[in-house]
Amino acid sequence: MIPGIHASVAGGLDRALDTLTELGLLCGQIFTSNQQQWKGRSVTAREIERYIGRSITVISHTSYLINLATTDKRVGLLSAATLETELERMNLLGIKWCVLHPGAHLGAGEENGIKKISSTARKILLNSPENTGILYENTAGQGTTVGYSFEQLAQLLELTDMPEKTGICFDTCHAFAAGYDLSSEGAVLETMDKFDDTVGKDRIKAFHINDSKKECGSHRDRHACSGEGLIGLEPLRFLARMPEFTEIPGIAETPGTDSDRAENIEKVVSL
Ligand SMILES: [Zn+2]
Ligand SMILES: [Zn+2]
Repeated sequence: MIPGIHASVAGGLDRALDTLTELGLLCGQIFTSNQQQWKGRSVTAREIERYIGRSITVISHTSYLINLATTDKRVGLLSAATLETELERMNLLGIKWCVLHPGAHLGAGEENGIKKISSTARKILLNSPENTGILYENTAGQGTTVGYSFEQLAQLLELTDMPEKTGICFDTCHAFAAGYDLSSEGAVLETMDKFDDTVGKDRIKAFHINDSKKECGSHRDRHACSGEGLIGLEPLRFLARMPEFTEIPGIAETPGTDSDRAENIEKVVSL
């Protein structure tokens, strides 16, 4: 894996590039807009110039408010519009992938939720800029969220039916919380084999490397620093060294500051 962190954009999107460079990292994840607001921000000429000229791989994480599976019409319209503008901003910045939480069905049923997410995503991707796409992030399965099982992730990809514009962001904490053991080398191999049989390892375009404060199968999403949770450092190091993931970003979303996260990812993937 290529070591990276979720980097702060306080002071402008280009500040994240400075931070990543200062920390010696080759990739990172940012919010291109406030993740707690519907209203998207526009990017500045300076930000565009810096991003187009960069040598660092950057992915974006979409707003937490987006729920493509919602049963509320207003939220559905806002979610679609927010995802569309995200893809447009990414196009200006030369960012290929954004990470998306698939969504929560809010009582309509998992099957309905998955169908709704895929059909909306497909409509958006059919009209989105050519070099942009979304990565469905596996979830811990909290509440009515879907995308916690490998079967559901496979279904989302299949029904969206846009292979060039979709992929998976694999979050280790979420997979563990969803019931996939990752706490030993053997468990990592077994879980990744299961993923390969169901979804295909080649669909993973990014990892979120987080340890978990909660037990395997707890369905609770609580990130721990690498080596300080119930997964442990060695299995994460083993996963990061798997040859098929050499070119894939491994992003730390662990607690603390940007430099804390850099320290965390360097424990897992030595620079
Ligand atoms: Zn996420
Ligand atoms: Zn999480």
